[in-house]
Amino acid sequence: MHDGVAAYVLGVLDDEEHEAFERHLDVCEKCRAELVELAGVPERLDELKQEPSASSGDDPPMSMSR
Ligand SMILES: [Zn+2]
Repeated sequence: MHDGVAAYVLGVLDDEEHEAFERHLDVCEKCRAELVELAGVPERLDELKQEPSASSGDDPPMSMSR
């Protein structure tokens, strides 16, 4: 059951699985901590999408040198 965290965050669980996992979260501190960590990831991706030119580059998109 512990491996459901990513699927839960991504919203790909069935209704049944979703409910079951929320019940699991109630009793599983480990998954709650993992959920908090994983929940930050989509937000970070969103930020990157909103400001594509804001990052000053350790990986410039035009670079063909590697
Ligand atoms: Zn768990």
